[in-house]
This record gives sequence, C-alpha cells and structure tokens, in this order.
Amino acid sequence: MNNIYLLGECMIELMSANNSQASTKPTCKSPTGNQLTQGFAGDVFNTAVYLKRLFADKKVHLVTAVGDDNFSDDMVDYFEQEALTTDCVFRSSEKLPGLYSIQLDEFGERSFTYWRSDSAARYVMNFIDQQVTNDISKGDIFFFSGISLGVILPQHRAQFWSFIDTLKQAGVTIAFDLNYRPKLWANKEEAKTQFKQAFDSADVLLPGVDDFAAIFGLDAVEDIIAFFNDYDFQELVIKNGEQNVFCISEEGQEVVDVTLVTNVVDTTSAGDSFNGAYLGARMAGSSVAQAVDLANQVAGFVIQHKGAIVDKAAFSSRFN
Ligand code: ADP
Repeated sequence: MNNIYLLGECMIELMSANNSQASTKPTCKSPTGNQLTQGFAGDVFNTAVYLKRLFADKKVHLVTAVGDDNFSDDMVDYFEQEALTTDCVFRSSEKLPGLYSIQLDEFGERSFTYWRSDSAARYVMNFIDQQVTNDISKGDIFFFSGISLGVILPQHRAQFWSFIDTLKQAGVTIAFDLNYRPKLWANKEEAKTQFKQAFDSADVLLPGVDDFAAIFGLDAVEDIIAFFNDYDFQELVIKNGEQNVFCISEEGQEVVDVTLVTNVVDTTSAGDSFNGAYLGARMAGSSVAQAVDLANQVAGFVIQHKGAIVDKAAFSSRFN
C-alpha cells in the first residue's frame, strides 16, 4: 500500500511563548505583553505528519481547504516542508483558515480558544467533485476523524457519506478515529448519529477509551468490544491511554502493553501520532501487533515533548 488520503482541518495555532513548541515561528508580543508563538496543527494533520516522517516512501495526501491569504500560504509551505502531498489541498477565495490559541494559567493549566466556526476547511466538500473522488478512489486508505466529521458543514453530510460509499465500492480501506469534541456538535445525539454512520463505513476503527466514555458512556474495554459486535470492521484498535491497547483483527484478539511514560509533558498529539504510526506500519506490511507496538513507542515519545508536532530533528534522531 502506497497512497493514503487524510481529511481534516489544519489550524493556525497561537501559543503562549512559555508553552511553545520548538518548530513554531518567532515570538510576537501583544499590547498586553503576552508573548505568543505561531504554529499550525490539527488532529488529522498531526497524524499525516507523523505517518510521513516515519514512512517516507508513502504518499500522504492531506484533504482539506485553506484560504488564499498569507497564513494559508505559510500553512501550505509547512505541508510541503513535511513532504505531504497537496494535490487535495483546496484554496477558497472567500474563507480563511481556522485559528486557536493555547494559554497557560498561573497554575500551568492549559486552556484552548477556537475561531473556526466559518473556516475554509468546513467547506471542503465544495471541492470534492467527480474528478477528485475518482483520484481519491485510487488510494489505498482514506482516514478521517470525529473532528473531521464535526467540521464538515451539516448540509454537506449527505454528500460526504455518498463520497465515502463511492470510495468503499472502489476498494479503498476506510479508517476512523472517534476524537469526540462536544463543542463541534449541536448535541450528543447528533454526534452519535454521525459516529454510528462512521462505524458502519469504517474498516479500521481506532477509538480511544476516553472519547468512547465521553460520548457513549462506556469506559470498560469489554463493553466497547461488545458495542462493536454490531459492526463489520476488519481491525478494531482500542487505545486505553497509558494502560494498554486492545486489538481485534483477522490476526485474532490481542492486548499490547504500553511502556509507561512518567514524565508526560504534553499529551496533545498522543492519539494522533499513534494513528499515524499505526496506519503507516500497516501500509508497510507490519502485523497489527507490530504496528501497535511502534504506535505506542511513537506516542510515548511525542508526549514527552511540547506541542502537537515534535521538532523534526529530535523526532528523526529517535525514529530513523
Ligand atoms: P488520545 O486521548 O489523544 O487518543 P490516549 O490517552 O488514548 O490519547 O493515548 C494515545 C496513546 O498514547 C496510547 O495508546 C499510548 O500509546 C500513548 N500513551 C498515552 N499516555 C501514555 C503514558 N502515560 N505512557 C506511555 N504511553 C502513553
């Protein structure tokens, strides 16, 4: 397998300087003296970056929409720096990229503020015409998350699911991570309906226990496995935080241990980096257990660093 398409939103990130990541732009000072650094991040984008860094020979296409402003130009440059394929990065002449800030309070607690309600990425389905669908149908895997689903405009959902059906019929493997963010949904029922549709469609399911508990009220792995008895998946990989990972696939049922990291610095991209490593390793021919093992190591490394995207040199000194 060589080609993966990942659909989601990448945002402009503004971070308090004392909480900043290594690969962000130089700091600027607000009138109130608050130092900020600017970067780019988003769950599916993070997954794409780690996948490509680990498996450089794979073609990793990001499927998203940005604007035609300077920030969007910088963002697309950043995609290219990370060697992502940008043939499905569409440019809106009317909309701008979403933005979020991470602030630290006096106790070191992080809080997130989002400006994404009318971002370019929400309109991505406007760009997915017959030709683009045909191109993506030639891929091996199509990945999206619960955040991608929440970002797609409600009036575009029917078009999205018919696009997914077309991909499935063309033999593309559909992969999905729950990533439940309540603020993206009008209410829980709306989110549940969309997630169940995703479970119906997906061949590879990568849920985290915390997300599952938040939306479906199930926090025991056995109950989550029982929930998925109703679905026809190929691989179910349940991320149980620092405890372990449960996998069900044609290779059987396995529990893969996690080597506990005690000096956790920032868990922002734990699940995203896990997904990138897992999907890349499966594309490269690893077994489910081997892929989970690599994914655990990668996520365990990422959480010992600040920010969603770990500095490239530091990452490649550990994983190349
Ligand atoms: P998310 O909420 O982002 O999905 P999880 O808490 O499910 O993140 O963790 C994702 C992965 O990160 C886990 O499956 C594991 O591989 C790794 N991980 C998380 N916390 C730890 C920890 N304390 N020590 C080692 N690995 C961890």
